[in-house]
Amino acid sequence: MEKLIIIKYGEMTTKKDNIGLFLKKLKENVEVALKEENITINYDSGRMFIYCHNHNFDSVLSRLQKVFGIHEIIIGYELPSNDFSLIQDSLQELIQNVNFKTFKIETKRSNKKYSLTSPEISKILGGTVLKNKEGVSVDVHHPELIIHTEIRLEKAYLYFETYKGCGGYPVGTLGKGLLMLSGGIDSPVAGYLAMKRGVKIEAVYFESPPHTSNQAKNKVESLAKILATYNQNVKLHIVKFTEIQEAIYKNIPHEYLITIMRRMMYRICAIIAGKSNCKIIVNGESIGQVASQTLTSMGAINRVVNIPVIRPLACFDKLEIIEIAKKIETFETSILPYEDCCTIFVPDHPVINPEISKCEEYEKLIPYEDLIYQAIHTKEVKLIIPENKEYEEIL
Ligand code: ATP
Ligand code: MG
Repeated sequence: MEKLIIIKYGEMTTKKDNIGLFLKKLKENVEVALKEENITINYDSGRMFIYCHNHNFDSVLSRLQKVFGIHEIIIGYELPSNDFSLIQDSLQELIQNVNFKTFKIETKRSNKKYSLTSPEISKILGGTVLKNKEGVSVDVHHPELIIHTEIRLEKAYLYFETYKGCGGYPVGTLGKGLLMLSGGIDSPVAGYLAMKRGVKIEAVYFESPPHTSNQAKNKVESLAKILATYNQNVKLHIVKFTEIQEAIYKNIPHEYLITIMRRMMYRICAIIAGKSNCKIIVNGESIGQVASQTLTSMGAINRVVNIPVIRPLACFDKLEIIEIAKKIETFETSILPYEDCCTIFVPDHPVINPEISKCEEYEKLIPYEDLIYQAIHTKEVKLIIPENKEYEEIL
C-alpha cells in the first residue's frame, strides 16, 4: 500500500458539462503550488491523487491549503486492488500505529458492481478492527477515529487523516478581475474572496508621491505578495495619482474631493481593466463604512464606468472583515501606519449624498481626460511573486 494525498473537490462538482475545464485548471494550479515538491498527480472526476515521492506530506498539505477548488485534503493509503481481503489486511496493519479508544467505519463505494454493499463493508471492517485492536469499541455518534474506506473501480483507499481545504473554484476558471488594492484591511480581503470564486486578479494601486511614501507602496507590494500565494502571482499596476489629486484639491469644492477622486480612480481602473482583459473591477467597499460608501455615493462614483464593479465586502461588517484578514495573514501588514492617497487631502465634511450634476460640473474645472491619459501612460507594472524577495519588472 502507498501513502498519498487525496483531494476532494469543492463546489465545482456541481458543474456537469464544464467539470473537465475546472479539473484541468485545478490540476494546473496544484502543479504550480507544488512545483518545488517531488510529486506526481493523477485525477478523475471524483478525486485527485498526489503521490509524494519524498514523503513530504506536511509541506504538500500546507501548500494545498492555499489552493482554491479543494474541499478536503486527505492523507491516506492506496491499495493496489480493491480485493476485500487486501483491504482487511491493510486496515489491520494500519490501526496498529494509531491510538484511539472509539471508532466508526465509513464506506464509500463508487464501484457499484462491487460484491459487497457499503453497510456490509463497514460492518465486516468494524469486526476486523475489534478483533485486532485491544480495548477499542464502536461509537457511531462521537467516535475518536473515523476510518474511511473508499472502493473505487480498480483500487481501494483507506484513511483517517482529513484536513479542510479552502473551498471555492480554482483561480482562473472564472476569468480575470482588477482589484483596487490599497494598504488597508479591506481590499486584500476583497481580493481573497474574489479569488475564492475562481477570479484571477490583477491589482491596481494609486500612489501620490511625495504625499504618500515608499513605505506605503512597499506595504501594498507585501499585501500583493500574500495574495499571490493564491493567485500564482499578482500583476500590480502602480498608478501615479499626484497630479490628479492636486488638481482636484486646488479646483474643486472640498466636500466633493473624495467623490471626484474616486470617480477618477474608477475611470482609470476601467481603462486598465479593458487593456488587461479583466472583466470586473473588485474593491473593498462596504456599505456605510465611510462617506464615499453610502448608497448615494456609490451610485455617483459607479456611474462613470460600464464595467461591473464587484464589492465582495459590501455586506460585511468590519469585525467579520478583520477575522478573514487575520486568517489570511494580511492583517498585521494592513495595520502598519503608512498613509494612503485616500487619507491625505481628506475634507472635514465630505458629502454623503453627492449630486451627479455637481460632480459633472466640478469635473469640468480640471483637464481630467489629459491627466488620466498621463497617469495611464506613466504607470509602472510589477509582477509580484509569492515567497520570493525578487520582483521581476515586466514593463
Ligand atoms: P481599505 O481598508 O481596503 O483601504 P477603506 O476602508 O480604507 O478600505 P476607502 O479608503 O474608502 O476604504 O477605499 C475603498 C476601497 O477603494 C478600498 O478597499 C480599495 O479597494 C480602494 N482603494 C482605496 N484607496 C486605494 C488606493 N490608493 N489604491 C487602490 N485602491 C484603493
Ligand atoms: Mg483605504
